[in-house]
Amino acid sequence: MRVLRSGRVVQGPEVAAFEHEFSSMVADRHCVAVNSGTSALHLTLMALGIGPADEVIVPSFTFAATANAVRLVGADPVFADIDPATYCLAPDAVAAAISPRTAAIMPVHLYGHPAPMDDLQALADRHGLAIVEDACQAHGAALDGKPAGSFGAAGCFSFYPTKNMHALEGGMIATADANLARRLRLLRNQGMEARYANEIVGANLRMTDVAAAIGRVQLEQLPGWTEQRVRNAKSLDARITALPAPFVADGATHVYHQYTLRAPGERDRFQRRLSELGVGSAVYYLTPVHRLRPYLPEHGHLALPETECAVAEVVSLPVHPSLTPAQLDRVAEAVNEAGSLL
Ligand SMILES: *Cc1c(COP(=O)(O)O)cnc(C)c1O
Repeated sequence: MRVLRSGRVVQGPEVAAFEHEFSSMVADRHCVAVNSGTSALHLTLMALGIGPADEVIVPSFTFAATANAVRLVGADPVFADIDPATYCLAPDAVAAAISPRTAAIMPVHLYGHPAPMDDLQALADRHGLAIVEDACQAHGAALDGKPAGSFGAAGCFSFYPTKNMHALEGGMIATADANLARRLRLLRNQGMEARYANEIVGANLRMTDVAAAIGRVQLEQLPGWTEQRVRNAKSLDARITALPAPFVADGATHVYHQYTLRAPGERDRFQRRLSELGVGSAVYYLTPVHRLRPYLPEHGHLALPETECAVAEVVSLPVHPSLTPAQLDRVAEAVNEAGSLL
């Protein structure tokens, strides 16, 4: 209401304050707010000058937005397989996917677990590639204390309502490069910084001040929510005996955007039984991106065995911060009972 009454409702003081406050989450990098996580990824590739001549290595085990951003700038996504433990890009698979046309690697910190950034950065350095982190599920995640979104040339976040924090819709790009930050600011707003002083061709991907004001309140809550997510996850880890707990790599801070187990063999029956016991569950992702319709003709033939295996086995359970202890008990008991079907 304060924002609406102020009359400054788009890319005004609330957006500037949100950018400033969010930068403390990403090692004080420059932060540029946009209207979605997809816009953050798309704009970053645009600002890096990635286009039709280029290939960008992405996982297929992710939300379609990761590869869509690559296609939107006219570049070709190259799908690489994942590490079955973390569900993030496997460095050896990325190494095998590098070609003379490769311009960038886009690791996704899937489910809130950080990708293996040290190995990926070493590869990127060796081949002169940019890294664009898809941190849309990883607000507050870290590797050896270094936050997700602060490793690559840029880190991209989403503030869609299902994420660990939201702004109705919204996105943020974090970068240590002041020139890249300025280019992003131009590109999100018709190529201008000062009004009507257009410097380059740009789009309109601005965040509203209403969204930013909501994002600022959410950002204040995020540390407490993340602690609660981690407590919930640890509680499920301790009580679920039927299936192995989600893996957490050494040095990784997992923020449990999803709490994901593997239910090999009889996942459908497992989920049906959970549902009968009053426990919701979901599969992220039922179809790997390379087999979604826009990618199928060109990429459908690819062999990505760990991706296919994950697609067939994963199941995500409730872990959100508003679960009560009684609900957590019920989730664990239901999983232990339904697990006997596997
Ligand atoms: C949500 C999400 C996006 C896109 O974010 P939007 O704000 O919905 O555009 C991109 N990548 C991943 C991995 C996501 O989970």
